[in-house]
Amino acid sequence: MSTEQFEVVIVGAGFGGMGAAIELKKLGYDDIVVLDREDDLGGTWHVNRYPGLAVDIPSTTYSYWFEPNPNWSRLFATGSELKGYAEHVADKYDVRRHMRFNTTVQSARWDEEAQRWQVSLSDGTTLSARYLITATGFLSQPHTPDIPGIAGFDGKVVHTTAWDDSHDFHGRRVGMIGTGATAVQLIPELAKTVGALTVYQRTPIWVAPKLDFGISPAVQRLFARMPLAQRGLRYVTDGLLGFMTFVGILNFPYFRRLSIGAMDLCKIHRFISIRDKELRAKLTPSYDIGCKRPSWSNDYYRSFTKPNVHLETVGIERVDPDGIVTTDGRKTEIDTLVLATGFDMWEANFPAIEIVGRNGRNLGKWWRENRFQAYQGVSVPAFPNFLSLASPYAFCGLSFFNTMEYQMRHMGRLFGEVQRRNATTFEVTEAANTRFLDDMTKRLDRTVFYAGQCAGSRSYYFNPSGEATLLRPTTVRNAVREGARFPLDDYEIA
Ligand code: NAP
Repeated sequence: MSTEQFEVVIVGAGFGGMGAAIELKKLGYDDIVVLDREDDLGGTWHVNRYPGLAVDIPSTTYSYWFEPNPNWSRLFATGSELKGYAEHVADKYDVRRHMRFNTTVQSARWDEEAQRWQVSLSDGTTLSARYLITATGFLSQPHTPDIPGIAGFDGKVVHTTAWDDSHDFHGRRVGMIGTGATAVQLIPELAKTVGALTVYQRTPIWVAPKLDFGISPAVQRLFARMPLAQRGLRYVTDGLLGFMTFVGILNFPYFRRLSIGAMDLCKIHRFISIRDKELRAKLTPSYDIGCKRPSWSNDYYRSFTKPNVHLETVGIERVDPDGIVTTDGRKTEIDTLVLATGFDMWEANFPAIEIVGRNGRNLGKWWRENRFQAYQGVSVPAFPNFLSLASPYAFCGLSFFNTMEYQMRHMGRLFGEVQRRNATTFEVTEAANTRFLDDMTKRLDRTVFYAGQCAGSRSYYFNPSGEATLLRPTTVRNAVREGARFPLDDYEIA
């Protein structure tokens, strides 16, 4: 069987993969294929369809900086609008024709002789590419908890990443495991229809009031006609999120009072929503805000005061065919089990597929044996012509599009130089990688992760060795500036 050849293989047709394709097309590359295991584009916003799904930062900031969307119907747009925006971008920037769906990549291996990547698909075929970019996202491998008996449950099991629209929740007795950002959006919606909802909470989440409002058609028309007006609003929301990150995460010891203020705001929010002191106490986190992703909602806390909703904080012992048994021996009978249990991050996602570079260096193994690291959150020594967009220290700011912005600028500078030198390979130097890792490690000391009280938060920001190697501990401004200006001799280009 002949191997299909491409200049660039991009894995993932979400906002990350689309951004990479757009940047490379801008530079003149056209022999690009974007592979995705799903049956359509949009990544997170294609897969997640549960009721209540909405972006959890203002939509004005949650878009490519070069493609503002004047049509958002709310400040916090719904999931279907985000999916629509992804479709619009794919068409406008002509990346859809490069996409292949229902295509699962299993592994990729650098072929030293050919100076190309051999990319193996699950159907047994192999593609060959000069450049490989993985944009597989951080939250893409659904986590099913290891609780005895789940497989033997007689009723319906639904993971939030595989929502089943055909399952009618009216009047159901539902057990729901998890109280992360997904649950915060889903619980108020389920509470409206189900007969009984028991929520199993292991770790409470910080929830602040949500300042959300509809954007009227007149304002949408104004944004369409005067993009500068929308840019102005974006400037404000970018600034607010940047401020929150700067004081609450990056420089925690110097602004501790402001973090306490934010926690007090959540406390007042709980107090106004819930009269029952014991219930409030159960919903109160014991770790500092920022240790794990907080959320916003005006109806999450109030949902627990409804007669058909019950919060269970005793641990789960097992799932029986007809219910959930807690460690104190009580059984709650249910007919539907909702798993709002999030994602396998470090175990399954770093990297999401097996990547083998020069001299047989296996990326996943190397990260685990030598600390998680990636120069500027995108490249790793001994992995030539490869960029990994979901890398350690890659996620910057609070919006995924902040990450995309600096990563696209990085790609533009790097590939621009490769073209200028008429070169065919690039590889980050060990020295540059070490310098970057040292810088990140030093900066982490003053973040909430190390200077705050994060014990017991069970946050996915921490890797299994206890290092907070997911978020880039710099401002977005710093990341974007370095993306556009990193020293070119940090790469060997030949
Ligand atoms: P998550 O934050 O990882 O929450 C998973 C929940 O399941 C946690 O409460 C966790 O408890 C619980 N859980 C997992 N295994 C368990 C077990 N064996 N027993 C009991 N409880 C268990 O996942 P998520 O809520 O899906 O959110 C993930 C991320 O997606 C968020 O942080 C956010 O960044 C993003 N998100 C964004 C949006 C948006 O923008 N619209 C919406 C939803 C999510 P522990 O905390 O005790 O582990």
